[in-house]
Amino acid sequence: MKHGKLLKEASRIVEPYCITKGEEFRLKDHDPADTNGLKDKRQAEGLLEDGIQLLSHMQEKLYAQDRWALLLIFQAMDAAGKDGAIKHVMSGVNPQGCQVFSFKSPSNEELNHDYLWRTHKCAPERGKIGIFNRSYYEEVLVVRVHPAFLKAQKLPQRLITKHIWDERYEDINAFERYLTRNGVVIRKFFLHLSRQEQKRRFLERLEDSKKNWKFSMADVQERSFWKDYQEAYEEMMQHTATKHAPWYVIPADNKWFTRLAVAAAIIGALSRLDLSFPDVEKAKKKELQAVRDSLLAQKD
Ligand code: ATP
Ligand code: MG
Repeated sequence: MKHGKLLKEASRIVEPYCITKGEEFRLKDHDPADTNGLKDKRQAEGLLEDGIQLLSHMQEKLYAQDRWALLLIFQAMDAAGKDGAIKHVMSGVNPQGCQVFSFKSPSNEELNHDYLWRTHKCAPERGKIGIFNRSYYEEVLVVRVHPAFLKAQKLPQRLITKHIWDERYEDINAFERYLTRNGVVIRKFFLHLSRQEQKRRFLERLEDSKKNWKFSMADVQERSFWKDYQEAYEEMMQHTATKHAPWYVIPADNKWFTRLAVAAAIIGALSRLDLSFPDVEKAKKKELQAVRDSLLAQKD
C-alpha cells in the first residue's frame, strides 16, 4: 500500500481509541473485543506488515535527524499482551535506535529517591524510540491498589494525605509536559483486556506446557483486585489524558487487532513530526567529493 494511503488507514484504525481529554472518560464505554470493523485477521496482518515497513523508514529518519525522541508507555493488566505488542510492532525497527525498559517493583536504591527518578534516567535520547513496559503510572495503579507499597516508599508521614493521588497526577502531567517541551513525543497505551479473556489466557498458560513459564501465581492474585484496578485505571486516564500525551485505550481481546492499532498510533505520531534526513551543506559536499577523488586515485 502507498504511504499516503497507509497513513490515512492508520489514522482511521486508531482514532476511536485516542483519549486527549480525560474528564468524561469511562472505561465501560470501551469494548475490549472491538476491532473497529475489521474482521479479517489475515488482512490485518498484511496491513501490519506494511505498517512495520513504514515505521522502519520513519525511524531511520528520526535517528538520522537526531532531534526528536519518541516515548511509548505500555500499561495493562497481566496477560494483556504488552510483550507481544512490543515485540511485533518494533520488529522492523533498527535495535540501535530503540531502548526498552521494564519497570518492576522498585529496588532499595530506587525507593531512596523520588518516584520519577528511575524512569527519568531511562527517558529516550534524541533520535531514539524509548519503550516503557510499565512506568511511573504504576505509582497511581498498583501502589494505589496496595497501600503497603506506598508505606514502603519512605515518604515523610505528613506528605501522605488524601490528596496524594491528585498530586501524583499533577506531577506526572507536569513531567510529561516538560519532556514534550524538550522534544520527547509521548504516546501512552492501555491494553484493555476483558476479565474473561484474561481467564482464558491464564488457563492456556496452565494447560500448554510451552506457556507454563509465563504463568505466575502473583498474576492470579492481582486478578482478585480486578475491580480496584479498573477504577484506578479509569481515574488515572481521566486525570492524565492530554493533547500532548494522549492515552490510547486499545482493545486487547484480539491480539492481532491490538498490534495493528498500536502500530497505527506510532505511525500517526511520527508522521506529525518534520522528519527528514539531514541536508549535507555545500562545503561538506565539496569535502566528500574531494575524499572520493582521492580514494579513486589510490592504486588499491
Ligand atoms: P511479564 O509478566 O510479562 O514478564 P510484567 O510487567 O507483569 O511482565 P512482572 O515481573 O510479572 O512483570 O511484574 C512486575 C510487577 O512489578 C507488577 O506487578 C507491577 O505492578 C509491579 N510494579 C511496577 N512498578 C511498581 C511500583 N512502583 N511499585 C510497586 N510495584 C510495582
Ligand atoms: Mg507479570
